[in-house]
Amino acid sequence: MKRILSTLAAATFSFAAHAAPPDVKMTRLDCGHMTLQDKAVMSDAGLYKGESLDIVMSCYLIKHGDDWLLWDAGLPKKYLAGPIVEGTFRTGLDRTIVDQLKVLGLRPEDITYVAISHAHFDHAGQVNDFPNATLIIQRAELEAMADTAKASQHYIDGALFSTHVAGGSLKRVKVVDGDVDLFGDGTLKTIWTPGHTPGSMALLVDLKHAGPYVLSGDQWHFSENHARRQVPTWNYDHAGTIASGKKLDDVIAKTRATLVIEHEPADNRRLPAAPRFLD
Ligand SMILES: [Zn+2]
Repeated sequence: MKRILSTLAAATFSFAAHAAPPDVKMTRLDCGHMTLQDKAVMSDAGLYKGESLDIVMSCYLIKHGDDWLLWDAGLPKKYLAGPIVEGTFRTGLDRTIVDQLKVLGLRPEDITYVAISHAHFDHAGQVNDFPNATLIIQRAELEAMADTAKASQHYIDGALFSTHVAGGSLKRVKVVDGDVDLFGDGTLKTIWTPGHTPGSMALLVDLKHAGPYVLSGDQWHFSENHARRQVPTWNYDHAGTIASGKKLDDVIAKTRATLVIEHEPADNRRLPAAPRFLD
């Protein structure tokens, strides 16, 4: 793992700037669902005792010019056999991402980038299914995954490393440091939101007609937790979560972006699902 980290410095992200932004469009994919039988895990301040919560897992497919970028990679395929009960989580997956790509006439080989908001199992589960894709991940997340003191119990079990980080080297990995304009044209910008995990990030997607959207990873898990500024019990850093929430709120206020809380069913219902796109 140390050898992996030593290669990070050479892998910092950079794309050539485009003269003019190409067309960008976005759709939503179904990446699973979960019932939290004990919603109390969603508040380190002791709220929600005796309640349950239904959430969704969502992935977003973005076309940028000739590139296809997948934002978050859903649950591992073992949940197709679900629902599977693990502790308070009751988790199921109805369709794989690759299966849903067929509706769009796309093959797994057509995906050029897979960017993950963070490396938890429900956001990185199918990350190895795209043989030509370059993984986009925050440096702090890769470092946290390698650090037993920081590693989250929910980090994906080694699978992330099998395709993209293996044998002591990074394979098709673009490491981003903080807030990065991915294509140099303002259409897709990462926003580093440490707190849930050390290397969590959101994505600001600027659509020509629909306007800007913020895909917010797990900064918040449902609308009420955003409104009440509640922090799950398993977050890495409480103060960091609150600070990143403020940072994201400020971006949204400045850009008038639409916030998408990725696990919130209501936010996702407002977005078109494949094969329909927002542009
Ligand atoms: Zn999540």
